[in-house]
Amino acid sequence: MHMADVLARDGMTASFEFFPPRTASAWDEFVASLHEFESLKPSFVSVTYGAGGSTRDRTDALVTRLSAETALAPVPHLTCVGHTSAEVDSILAAYAAKGVSNILALRGDAPRDAQAPATGDFRHAVDLVRAVREFGAAGRHPDPRGFGIGVAGFPEGHPETPNTLVQMDHLKAKVDAGADFVITQLFFDNDAFFDWRDRCAIAGVRVPVIAGIMPVTSIGGLKRMAELAAGTRFPAPLLRAIKRCEDDPASVANVGIHWATEQARDLIDRGVAGIHFYTLNKSDATRRIYQTLGLAGRVGAQGAG
Ligand SMILES: Cc1cc2nc3c(=O)[nH]c(=O)nc-3n(C[C@H](O)[C@H](O)[C@H](O)COP(=O)(O)OP(=O)(O)OC[C@H]3O[C@@H](n4cnc5c(N)ncnc54)[C@H](O)[C@@H]3O)c2cc1C
Repeated sequence: MHMADVLARDGMTASFEFFPPRTASAWDEFVASLHEFESLKPSFVSVTYGAGGSTRDRTDALVTRLSAETALAPVPHLTCVGHTSAEVDSILAAYAAKGVSNILALRGDAPRDAQAPATGDFRHAVDLVRAVREFGAAGRHPDPRGFGIGVAGFPEGHPETPNTLVQMDHLKAKVDAGADFVITQLFFDNDAFFDWRDRCAIAGVRVPVIAGIMPVTSIGGLKRMAELAAGTRFPAPLLRAIKRCEDDPASVANVGIHWATEQARDLIDRGVAGIHFYTLNKSDATRRIYQTLGLAGRVGAQGAG
């Protein structure tokens, strides 16, 4: 189902991000837990893609499996860094043939240890958005609208573009090129998100903005988030609460899940278009948030399509 229809159906979306497991045992463990995610009836689930194509086969395998064996509607991520136009075209053709309705179009990052700049036909995500849009416009997708296209947004800024006005221009360029929705980088400060969403509207970015939420569940996870989502601000009240119980892993998880629950409640109360949970393939935190907020069956209630 095209994202425009998903958004119209659900009013507010709830969705989960998965990554393709690396090993056979991690794969088995994840597949065995999929029914727990299914029972939450998300609007869609997204599947990450390793920049440069490092998870190309595994991403494809997970998307195929989710489509064939579950009621979950997969939205594959696709990064364009290092890819040729022909490679992207063949990936899109395979997804169109499988009935995949939506793609999250990203640039990705060149590997940190790369000696030379990444080669390929795409410089920025906007180039990929154009390619996905042209694929649909050529009548190569079963839906006459083509793929629904999502792009990334960064409420607290993207490290490569310190000028926030220029950065907004780059986001608007992706929307003008054909993006249908935005999913944000994780954040912990809702006021920063809503201020940025207002700035999007002022700049003419008028597509739905889905908020990315990732509960802190361990001190190690917190440190990885700070590394991977550079520029993310960790509010003092959150850090203070974690500090109080840093020697007790279960309490750290309780604090992080409580914070994410309050964030989600406030986002819903203030009319967010959707919430995307970065799950790290674990259902527990998301399930607890759903239960506490009475969400199960109330958003994304129609299931996959
Ligand atoms: C929801 C979400 C999902 C993600 N999933 C993945 C994933 O599956 N795999 C993965 O590898 N990474 C993923 N990422 C990370 C993402 O690929 C990186 O953060 C990347 O650095 C930015 O990607 P982008 O699509 O926003 O790129 P772009 O929109 O191309 O922006 C990248 C930078 O270039 C700047 N820029 C854009 N256009 C221009 C221009 N014309 N001229 C000059 N500068 C420009 C932007 O301001 C920004 O600083 C994800 C991020 C998010 C928020």
